[in-house]
Amino acid sequence: QTANSQNEKKQNVQVYIRLRPFLPHEEQEDIIEIKSQENKILIKDSLHLMESKFDQAFDPSQDQKQVFEHFKPYLSDILDGYNFTVFAYGQTGSGKTHTMFGADWEYMSGHQAFTGKDLKVQHQSTFFESLESDHNFAGIIPRTIYEVFRQITLKREQNPNMQISVYVSFIQIYNEKIYDLLQDNLKPVALSIHENKQSGMYVEGLSEYQVAHYYDSLQLMRRGEKNRAIRTTSMNVKSSRSHTIFQLQIERIDDSEYQKEKKTIKRSKINLCDLAGSEKINKNEVMGGAHFNELRSINLSLTTLGKVIHSLSSSQKLPIPYRESKLTRILQDSLSGNCQTFIIANISPCSDSLEETLSTLKFAERAQ
Ligand code: ADP
Ligand code: MG
Repeated sequence: QTANSQNEKKQNVQVYIRLRPFLPHEEQEDIIEIKSQENKILIKDSLHLMESKFDQAFDPSQDQKQVFEHFKPYLSDILDGYNFTVFAYGQTGSGKTHTMFGADWEYMSGHQAFTGKDLKVQHQSTFFESLESDHNFAGIIPRTIYEVFRQITLKREQNPNMQISVYVSFIQIYNEKIYDLLQDNLKPVALSIHENKQSGMYVEGLSEYQVAHYYDSLQLMRRGEKNRAIRTTSMNVKSSRSHTIFQLQIERIDDSEYQKEKKTIKRSKINLCDLAGSEKINKNEVMGGAHFNELRSINLSLTTLGKVIHSLSSSQKLPIPYRESKLTRILQDSLSGNCQTFIIANISPCSDSLEETLSTLKFAERAQ
């Protein structure tokens, strides 16, 4: 498996699909089959018979740890200036947040690693032991953070003078406006994107917290999630209608640069995106103009994302429409550099979600 992933490393874009299990109240009708050995998905509903192949196809029995094993090898170059981006795509309820953040936030927030007490003592201990044993607990974001800090620790053991700094930001995009999830105000101001020679594309005024340990980063992730939940009520925004991007920026200055006046800094960016629900406008929904705009914005950004990913994975040199949406503009530098990009298309097993499932698969197929 690992050797295989190493071979595939040159490929820039990978498309994974993940079928979530039935929830207790759902009617268990078997219309979707994952052939995980072949990475194929088979739709066997009476009206639709189709089979597609992806880079990975996860079935409901594959837990968070097993899923992450397929991302982890691609993080090995992260300290050398490579970028790493993951998008969770799918309709609301298909498992995007579960995949990116993890299960059961109540449990997680009660965990000592999140309470802020005795953090120094807790370091390296219980939280990640539980992460190892409780496979369905933490999703891609906490596992990526852990992996990054694990690698930093190893690097520092070999090169004690190497300087490595890590910064965390957490962005929400709602209605084509950009908000900072690490600012604790109820009615946050929309931020704008700027461009300059030195730092490329940047969001003006966005919080960037320097973090020294994985648990600092986890605390920030928690804080952003809390703000996302609070604003759901205060701004009357359904969280399923916004995108979030959890970002880690890593800067490394090698020992050999130490004496130089102009030091070379290796910069990497990790973007972990929980996208807005991809569902189409529900005709039964009472819709004011605001909601209509909401859906139009989501549509625009997901369509643009699809085009961008398609151009990136295509062998032809096509013009890439980064500027057509805020999401792709923010990610332009990461995606256009040395970047490993993943889409994980989440799907629900329910037959009443079939139409959306087919449209998610279509998106995923086009992306590869
Ligand atoms: P989304 O973010 O796409 O709207 P969620 O991540 O909130 O979807 O998932 C919807 C529900 O399904 C949640 O109750 C979640 O806990 C559950 N769920 C999703 N994926 C899985 C999984 N792989 N295993 C167990 N439960 C899951
Ligand atoms: Mg969600």
